[in-house]
Amino acid sequence: MEQNNIQKTEKIFSLIDSLEQQHTLSLMEYEYLITHRCPEAARVLSEKASRMCRRIYGNAIYIRGLIEISNFCKNDCLYCGIRRSNRNCDRYRLTADEILKCCEEGHALGFRTFVLQGGEDSFFTDDIMCDIIRKIKNQYPDCAVTLSLGERSRSSYLALFEAGADRYLLRHETADEEHYKKLHPPDMSFSNRMQCLQELRDIGYQVGCGFMTGSPYQTAFALAQDLKFVEAFHPDMCGIGPFIPHTSTPFYHMPAGDAELTCYLLSILRLIYPPVLLPATTALGTIDPEGREKGILAGANVVMPNLSPVSVRSKYQLYNNKACTGDESAQNKNSLSQRMEAIGYEIVTCRGDIKRK
Ligand code: SAH
Repeated sequence: MEQNNIQKTEKIFSLIDSLEQQHTLSLMEYEYLITHRCPEAARVLSEKASRMCRRIYGNAIYIRGLIEISNFCKNDCLYCGIRRSNRNCDRYRLTADEILKCCEEGHALGFRTFVLQGGEDSFFTDDIMCDIIRKIKNQYPDCAVTLSLGERSRSSYLALFEAGADRYLLRHETADEEHYKKLHPPDMSFSNRMQCLQELRDIGYQVGCGFMTGSPYQTAFALAQDLKFVEAFHPDMCGIGPFIPHTSTPFYHMPAGDAELTCYLLSILRLIYPPVLLPATTALGTIDPEGREKGILAGANVVMPNLSPVSVRSKYQLYNNKACTGDESAQNKNSLSQRMEAIGYEIVTCRGDIKRK
């Protein structure tokens, strides 16, 4: 028994070494790394990952101002609080002027990337979105615009890109098709989501994918597939955060994911693709008051404080108790800076593009 345990421990550390050197493992090896997770492996991984990150980005932490432009959504994702079937959701959408006001405030605060995120709201046609993007890029040519507006047609992605959008975040949610079906209604498809990511890449966007950790029905094998997908796709960004249940969704009774697994996976992702931009997400900061710090120390290098008008922040509720005030708020950037300095990092004022070498 004792002998067996020693062999297991040796195996996990040799897998971690090989991941650090080769940036690749087999599907089964990733699965092993996940099922045999222990505090010591997590510590070794986070040390290697943060060292790797420092080698590329130094102690810089990139910030993005998150503007939640609409909580109308035509989709019915089972985990999401703004799904169309949620009658308790108080719907809103921002006007172009309101969005521009957020950018104005954000720019003064030192943000050089604006992330426009929302539900799939058909109000935001290509013409309306292109107009907003052009206005932002005209007024703030030193800034990057990131979109996170879900699945659209290839021609739509192209139009938005030509209007000046630089980046697009579209979490793949899970790389396991059977798992995807358990998280989404039958009218949504895994293949379309993956196709969207490929189209975004082909058009020339810097692309972000990602997934929730601890989402309902997620297995270690599903997570291993997420890692293998990142290894093959090499996204510019990868957003991961714990699943947190929302009371007005079919998953209200499901347990939340945890910060430790999220951090463990952040470290693995950093070793898989060293230059990848990894946010310490709002969900991580929500599930654990020190989530942002833990994420950074595990290898993340981006934070995305909330820059939405204060009046709508609580309405953009993907999950319950979403952190959007205090240090999650763009207005409290100084306090966030202090927290980052306390762990040896520095928030920088720049677009924060990927350093691909
Ligand atoms: N409509 C856009 C933006 C989605 S919201 C899109 O489809 O891409 C951004 C991310 O929040 C989602 O991709 C999902 O991974 C995450 N999310 C949604 N509900 C959540 C929940 N209950 N807990 C944690 N994260 C959630």
